[in-house]
Amino acid sequence: MKLDARVPSGAIEKLWDQARFEMKLVNPANKRKYTILVVGSGLAGASAAATLGELGYNVKCFCFQDSPRRAHSIAAQGGINAAKNYHSDGDSVFRLFYDTVKGGDFRSREANVYRLAQNSVNIIDQCVAQGVPFAREYGGTLANRSFGGAQVSRTFYARGQTGQQLLLGAYQALEWQVHEGRVKMFPRTEMLDLVVIDGQARGIVTRNLVTGQIESHVGDAVVLGTGGYGNVYYLSTNAKGSNCTAIWRAHKRGALFANPCFTQIHPTCIPVSGDYQSKLTLMSESLRNDGRIWVPMKAGDKRAPQQIPEAERDYYLERRYPSFGNLVPRDVASRNAKAVCDEGRGVGETGLGVYLDFSDAIQRLGVEVIRERYGNLFEMYQRITGEDPYQVPMRIYPAIHYTMGGLWVDYYLMSTIPGLFAIGEANFSDHGANRLGASALMQGLSDGYFILPYTLGDYIAKTKLGKVDAGAAEFQSAESGVAELTKKLLGIRGKHTVDWFHRQLGKLVWDYCGMSRTGAGLDKALCEIRELRGQYWRDVKVPGSADDLNQSLEKAGRVADFFELAELMCLDARQREESCGGHFREEFQTPDGEAQRDDEECSYVAAWEYKGAEHAPGLEEVLHLDEVLHLDEVLHKEPLTFEYVHPSQRSYK
Ligand SMILES: Cc1cc2nc3c(=O)[nH]c(=O)nc-3n(C[C@H](O)[C@H](O)[C@H](O)COP(=O)(O)OP(=O)(O)OC[C@H]3O[C@@H](n4cnc5c(N)ncnc54)[C@H](O)[C@@H]3O)c2cc1C
Repeated sequence: MKLDARVPSGAIEKLWDQARFEMKLVNPANKRKYTILVVGSGLAGASAAATLGELGYNVKCFCFQDSPRRAHSIAAQGGINAAKNYHSDGDSVFRLFYDTVKGGDFRSREANVYRLAQNSVNIIDQCVAQGVPFAREYGGTLANRSFGGAQVSRTFYARGQTGQQLLLGAYQALEWQVHEGRVKMFPRTEMLDLVVIDGQARGIVTRNLVTGQIESHVGDAVVLGTGGYGNVYYLSTNAKGSNCTAIWRAHKRGALFANPCFTQIHPTCIPVSGDYQSKLTLMSESLRNDGRIWVPMKAGDKRAPQQIPEAERDYYLERRYPSFGNLVPRDVASRNAKAVCDEGRGVGETGLGVYLDFSDAIQRLGVEVIRERYGNLFEMYQRITGEDPYQVPMRIYPAIHYTMGGLWVDYYLMSTIPGLFAIGEANFSDHGANRLGASALMQGLSDGYFILPYTLGDYIAKTKLGKVDAGAAEFQSAESGVAELTKKLLGIRGKHTVDWFHRQLGKLVWDYCGMSRTGAGLDKALCEIRELRGQYWRDVKVPGSADDLNQSLEKAGRVADFFELAELMCLDARQREESCGGHFREEFQTPDGEAQRDDEECSYVAAWEYKGAEHAPGLEEVLHLDEVLHLDEVLHKEPLTFEYVHPSQRSYK
């Protein structure tokens, strides 16, 4: 298979204009004849469905929640980037582009990132026009703050609820189209398979989560805006429902999966506090604008923070990275937190925590300013930990938060299956090996409002789409496959719950494919994941039935997919023999412990092709049949070239 990213040639600042001009258009009167299936109604899916509806297409939009307003996007706190340069502090489209390519440790496609930076300015205008209540200065102009990996103030925000406010904007645009009859919304409906006919994506098979009904939906193109797969780690800052099923099943139908091992650990989360915890809480990166991170100088120092004098505190980020200080990118901040905790200098009961201290800022700015900026985040912290961050420093520790990997897409956001598009966190996106803070919302909305509506039209206009109906053999066999899988999961009647398995899987992925990785650890993880997967298929207990609301059954299917994805993540991390961004292979580091890239050998996007599952030779006799299956995945490489931002050792010193 030859991967063609279809990046136009020419000067980078002209590419998108040129590409749009060269795209074929669909006659406005013809648009309603085309049905577009949009799976997902988070920021990416809702913005795409609303815009496609407004353009005149006939759109069907699906989500598994009871309302689009409950998509995980609602949880986004800190902000959204845009190169508006309102502060005249030196920002520009080129600087945002530069920061993003560098922040991603030179593992993203330059042309995509430039387009993202260009679109960033339009997103803010679009959202303001929708009435999104961004924070404003006293005089009425939009306010900004800084996020990691940047030395300018370009993050627009709505207190600590940016995702919620942006989603309400996209939701009202979507609901308007629902009202106009151009979008039909299918809540509580889960896509469980993709239907490919004559090599084109022509539909999906869904299960109604309330009645259990399995149904086929025919379309002329399918768009997946189904979010990220951070919950493979079990404990994450993602909403509990976020999962990989839609993209994984599309992968099994032929869509290549890119950079699965590029996952992001966020440095500022509330530390794990017990074995039965099921969710981690993010403390927004915006807090690093005013909070200072430190640990005691001495290992094992158990004194309360107020009793540790200034001279015995180590503000390790400010010490090691004087230019960026507490605002180094997430991968750097997370690794440093792990390092000081590994030295025995971590705080809190478990020793897996560092302080995020606002006392200086409170003294300098006054408590009211801090309350105004971060009040809801402080309140959330206090409710969860019982500690008052206005009085004592917050305790934070890194946690899994975002996934840069996802379905491989070309410049037109189309996967390797013609007619299947992926947007938002579901694609492998523009963030390379590490996403900068406040760039996910920007990317999801750029994809949904400003890119897909053009590129999808180009596909429709250029493609011969034969007549297809739900009676086609491909739909029938996908429906039976979904029914069989459901029956199989319910029929096992084993001893352990889905969560029991998921927690163990998550621990394996966290320990061996988390904040740092080694070749030997990944080999071990591959064996253990396969074994645990075998046990899952023998011993999982899924109570209830298929024709009723059954959340254990929903989870069971999702965890089955997480098992397979976890294996691919480890395979990917194993083959990438370098460290870059969030992928830190301990064997490859600079003398002072920074990620050591290998640009000669590893400047590529890893795109995996699913070929099936095979029996691992030699294991058949010792293990149960299901246990010996391992994924048969073939690696393809999309070479990356850098003409505008020359790859260098990233330095935030
Ligand atoms: C706590 C937290 C805070 C964050 N803060 C920020 C921030 O301040 N700034 C920033 O830029 N980024 C932030 N992020 C990242 C950002 O929120 C996400 O990357 C982004 O919201 C993802 O949007 P999305 O539309 O791609 O996916 P989602 O919002 O996850 O939406 C996925 C949609 O797909 C649907 N879906 C999924 N699978 C199926 C299926 N099989 N069938 C049917 N429907 C399906 C869901 O129902 C949902 O509607 C944060 C992330 C977290 C976890």
